[in-house]
Amino acid sequence: MEKIPLLGLGTWKSSPQQVTEAIKIAIDLGYRHFDTAFFYHNEKEVGEGIQQKIKEGIVKREDLFIVTKLWNTFHEKHLVKSACQNSLKNLQLDYLDLYLVHCPMGFKVGDDDIPTDQNGMIIASETDYLDTWEAMEDLVEEGLVKTIGISNFNHKQIERLLNKPGLRYKPTNNQIECHPFLTQEKLINYCHSKGISVTAYRPLGGTSDFFNEPIIKKIAEKYKKSVAQVLIRFHIQRNVIVIPKSVTPSRIKENFQVFDFELSKEDMDSLLSLNRNLRLATFPYAKNHKDYPFNIEY
Ligand code: NDP
Repeated sequence: MEKIPLLGLGTWKSSPQQVTEAIKIAIDLGYRHFDTAFFYHNEKEVGEGIQQKIKEGIVKREDLFIVTKLWNTFHEKHLVKSACQNSLKNLQLDYLDLYLVHCPMGFKVGDDDIPTDQNGMIIASETDYLDTWEAMEDLVEEGLVKTIGISNFNHKQIERLLNKPGLRYKPTNNQIECHPFLTQEKLINYCHSKGISVTAYRPLGGTSDFFNEPIIKKIAEKYKKSVAQVLIRFHIQRNVIVIPKSVTPSRIKENFQVFDFELSKEDMDSLLSLNRNLRLATFPYAKNHKDYPFNIEY
């Protein structure tokens, strides 16, 4: 498996006004892995923070692990390279460490990130993610990206990709929603068994309230840690990469202080037992898409 720093900073909904400062603070604190996406419309400001810290001599480019993602309206083979080059330009980088296919579903090409019909349902493209993948493989050969991966793929979709005739590069990583209410045991085991690392997104539940769950609160009190720190540590002990998002300096710091304690096996088991297959990112507008990933168990 490629080496991805186990803890990174997420940036979905990090506003362009706030994210440059968040990146700079994070680099000063020791974060080396940053996760963004074309879809977040903040790549430029993420890149600005990175470049400022490189110029200050605090980090070198090669010490950083930068991840961004191909959005669903760029799945046509001939659009993949220019989408990647656009992200590189935004980020002021000449290569990405990891470029992910954001989602297995292709959407109609155009200026709308989420093109919908009059019923609010997605207008799909006819693309097949196997073809998109061939264009992703070209990016590796052209030196634009070090590694390529996927996000929001279910195990059947991964299996189909791994069995693609003429596959040149396996996905190195699958980025999926994961937390104690959606523990993803089967999908994580499947990915790890295929040598694909897993990154957990929405580890703190986004804006939903994960912070009042009594079992997690009790565990946090026991270790004199915050609920967020327990929610983050949970992944690290499963060998799952985790990318909590914050633009709040004190939280960016708090979320990084997770390497000085270890949850016991019993506490890990208690956290795993909270699983209720609660998926927060369900893409409801795309339920009818031929490649909708969440209508099988895992
Ligand atoms: P998170 O689970 O990281 O939660 C972020 C929220 O938690 C923000 O509101 C943040 O507030 C708050 N928060 C952060 N730290 C703390 C803390 N210590 N205590 C209390 N609240 C806290 O949700 P995300 O959805 O952002 O997921 C993380 C990252 O994963 C994203 O930013 C993105 O990079 C990636 N992602 C990828 C997806 C995909 O499809 N591949 C989908 C969703 C996310 P504040 O910022 O105000 O401090």
